[in-house]
Amino acid sequence: MGAPLDLGSAFDLLIVGGGINGAGLARDAAGRGMRVLLLEQAGLAHFTSSASTKLIHGGLRYLEYLQLRLVREALRERERLLSIAPHLIRRATFVLPHQRHLRPAWLLRLGLLGYDALAPGSSLARSRPVRFATSELGQPLQASLLKGFTYADCTVDDSRLVVLNVRDAFERGADIRVGHRLLRATRVAAHWRAEILELASGRSYTVPARVLVNAAGPWIGEVLNERIGSRSQRAVRLVKGSHIVVRRLYAGDQAYVLQNPDRRIVFVIPYQDEFTLIGTTDVEWPEQPAAVSISAAETDYLCRSVNEYFKRPIAASDVVWSYAGIRSLCDDASSKAAELTRDYALELDAPPGQAPVLTVFGGKITTYRSLAEQAMSTLAPFVPPMRACWTAERALPGGDFPDGGLPAYLAQAQRRWPFLPERQLRRLVHGYGTRLGRLLEGVATREAMGEDFGGGLTQIEVDYLMRQEWAVDSEDLYWRHTKTGLHASAADAQRLAQYLRTAHPVAQPDANPAPLGAQVIG
Ligand SMILES: Cc1cc2nc3c(=O)[nH]c(=O)nc-3n(C[C@H](O)[C@H](O)[C@H](O)COP(=O)(O)OP(=O)(O)OC[C@H]3O[C@@H](n4cnc5c(N)ncnc54)[C@H](O)[C@@H]3O)c2cc1C
Repeated sequence: MGAPLDLGSAFDLLIVGGGINGAGLARDAAGRGMRVLLLEQAGLAHFTSSASTKLIHGGLRYLEYLQLRLVREALRERERLLSIAPHLIRRATFVLPHQRHLRPAWLLRLGLLGYDALAPGSSLARSRPVRFATSELGQPLQASLLKGFTYADCTVDDSRLVVLNVRDAFERGADIRVGHRLLRATRVAAHWRAEILELASGRSYTVPARVLVNAAGPWIGEVLNERIGSRSQRAVRLVKGSHIVVRRLYAGDQAYVLQNPDRRIVFVIPYQDEFTLIGTTDVEWPEQPAAVSISAAETDYLCRSVNEYFKRPIAASDVVWSYAGIRSLCDDASSKAAELTRDYALELDAPPGQAPVLTVFGGKITTYRSLAEQAMSTLAPFVPPMRACWTAERALPGGDFPDGGLPAYLAQAQRRWPFLPERQLRRLVHGYGTRLGRLLEGVATREAMGEDFGGGLTQIEVDYLMRQEWAVDSEDLYWRHTKTGLHASAADAQRLAQYLRTAHPVAQPDANPAPLGAQVIG
C-alpha cells in the first residue's frame, strides 16, 4: 500500500459496476477519449440489469405520480434507443383493460393522451380505445372485461444491452475487468488509490484514478460507506421486484397491463415465442442483495393478478422460471415501496483539492444513456478536456443495419445461412445484429457450428461469448448473454459445463488479455 502511485498511468474514470449504468457510462466516457476502467465483481448484467421487466418505456404509471420529467426523458430515450439498438429493442402493443371498480375509463384515457403528448414526433403508434367483443385483443380475456385501451411501448433484451455497451466501450479503449471487485479506495490528494481483488486468482492490486464512479446498483451504499469511506445526503431503499414465466398464455404478440386493487400494475408480455413473462412486485428487501429470490407470496400475487383478467387461469405449478432483482431507489419518504420515485439522481462528493466520487442512485434501463451523458457533464471539471456528447446517434455494436433495416438484414441472413432454423436465426439476428457476420465467419454448414447445448446455443456462439463478451460460466451464457436457458435441459447444461471445463478452463477473453499495469499487493 505504501508505494507511490504512478499518476502518469492513472485512469480518468474508475467505474464500479457492470450493470447498465456502469456500462453506459463506460461507453460514453471511452468514446470521449477518457481512460476508463470498468470493474464488475460477478458477470456483466449479473444482477438488476438482467432482472428487469425488459421494457424500454416512458412508464405510464409514473404519470399518476406526476413524474413528468422522468416520463418525458424516458420517452425521448425510447426513440433514441430504437435507432441505436434496432436489433435489441422491439415495438410492442400494450393492452390496458378497464375494470369498472378500479381507475375510471376517463382517467385511463387522459393518462394515455398525456403519454402520447409527452412523446411528440414518436415513431410509435398513438393510444386508442378498444372494444374487446370486436377485437382479437379481447380473445384471451374474461368476458366480463368489455373495453380498454391500447398504446405502444418497447421491449428490450436487457442484459444484451449491457453487454453491447461494454463491448463498444472496450472497442473505444476502455479496460474491462469482469470478476474484479473494488475492495476499497482511498483518496491520495487529487487521486484515488483503488485496491482491487481479482476473484478467480485471489490476487489484489492497486490502481490510480482521477474519478471514481459508484454505479454498484444495490451495493452503492456498501461502496460508499464500507469501501471508500464517503457519506451521502441521500438514503437508499432496496426494493425487490420479481417475475414469473409460464408457458405461453395466449396467441398474439400484444402485451397486457393489468391494474390491481392495490393500485399497482402487472405486465403480461409474450416471451421467446413459447412463453409469457409476468411481473413485477414491489417488496422492501432488508437482506443481502445477492440473496434475492422470489417468495411464494409474490408468485401467488402475480398468479392472482393474471387470474382476475385471463380466461386461462395459472397457478404456482405453471411457473417454469422466475427471477428477482433489486431496485436501489432514492428514499423520498413515500410510505409504500411502489410509490418511491423511479427517477435517478447523481450525487457528486468532491471535497476541495480531493478526488471526486459520483454515485448513481436509482434509474431505469430506459434512461441509462441520458444518465451517462449527465454524469459526464457533471464530471467535466475533474477529467481532461473531452469530446462532445456522441451516444445519441452512434449505433451500438451490431445495430448498424444497412438500408432496409432489420427485416432486410434478416432476409439476407436467411440467404447467407440457409441451414439455420428460422427461430435460431431470428434470435441470433436480434442478439448480435450485423455482428452475426463475425460470429458465423467461415461457417458454411450447421455442423461447423459445433455441438448444440440447448435452445440453439452452439459451440461457436459459446466461444464467441467467452472470448468477445466476457461471459463467465454456463449460467451466464444461458441466462444473460443469451436467453436460451429456458430451452436447455439438465443434460444440456452438463454438456455445456463439461465443454467449458475443457475449452475454456479459465474465463480469459481475447477482449481482456493484458494484465493491468498496476502494482500487485497480495
Ligand atoms: C424488478 C425490476 C424491474 C425493472 N423493470 C424495468 C424496465 O422494465 N425498464 C426499465 O427501464 N428499468 C427497469 N428496472 C430498473 C433497472 O433494471 C435498473 O434501474 C437498472 O438495471 C440498474 O442498473 P445498475 O447498473 O445501476 O445496477 P446493477 O445492474 O445492479 O449493476 C450493479 C453492478 O455493480 C456490481 N458491483 C457491486 N459492488 C461492486 C464492487 N465492489 N466491485 C465491482 N462490482 C461491484 C454488481 O455486481 C452489479 O453487477 C427494473 C428494476 C427491477 C428491479
